[in-house]
Amino acid sequence: MGKRERRRKRERARAKERRAAAAPIAVVFPTGAPRIRVVVKPDQPQDAQDLALLYWEVTETGKWARSVESIGDLQSVVATVKSVSHATLLGSLCTQCEEPIRVPNRSWAVRVAGPKLDRPNATYICSECSAVREQEQQQEAKLRAEAARAEQERQREQAEELARKIAEEFDKEDAKDGSAGTLTAPSSPGFALYIALANHAVYRPNNLIPSVSDLFPVGWTGDMDYDVTALKDLYYAGLIALSRETPADRLEVSLEDGGVNFLIADARWRLVGDATMAAERVERHPRS
Ligand SMILES: [Zn+2]
Repeated sequence: MGKRERRRKRERARAKERRAAAAPIAVVFPTGAPRIRVVVKPDQPQDAQDLALLYWEVTETGKWARSVESIGDLQSVVATVKSVSHATLLGSLCTQCEEPIRVPNRSWAVRVAGPKLDRPNATYICSECSAVREQEQQQEAKLRAEAARAEQERQREQAEELARKIAEEFDKEDAKDGSAGTLTAPSSPGFALYIALANHAVYRPNNLIPSVSDLFPVGWTGDMDYDVTALKDLYYAGLIALSRETPADRLEVSLEDGGVNFLIADARWRLVGDATMAAERVERHPRS
């Protein structure tokens, strides 16, 4: 064997050693009927690797081979073992993917696989599945939050739209000046009420006429149904208009046609035109 060949052989052997050293160390415990498989990271200090194997060793009956205290200081042993190794529980499979569950320390091993490390698992999922599940839950939470935001935005827009429609309705009512109104026939329910309202307006400078509901239980005439019929007459005859004093929540915007509805009994009113105009209108009216 030449010099060069010997050197190559030496290099090959060293590379093989390096590869061997770089591969994780995997050991099963107990050797007879394995319950756990311990994997120790490569490229770790020899004493840390040894410590991990001492920590994880299990006797043939499934008990830990030695107490942690006998290996060293509890906290530092657990920290070292966790950083250089883990164990998989060969008899305790993930409920999701059915792979052996990986644990970082003895207490988790016992929690999942029982005191003898041989209990089949019906509760836990592995860390990979739990990461996937968490991701799914985060995704779901994100979608829920987005949907809630969109719904909030929709409701805000709808509320704005309703407020706009109601404001428009009040503007329309405010614009009524009495020019289009004609007094109903003296025999109609509206006629007598109009006289009462006209008198009321004389004493009420702001012209506000309370709603029938506001005057409950007596109303204008003592008969609520009659009041409503009379007010309806006057409203459609253009003699009274919806007052801006009507609380907006008594108005309802129709979702079908966007029209504004309100209950005659709940509405507050103003006489269209001023009190003088009302008085003239009554006087001018031919009596039957
Ligand atoms: Zn799993």
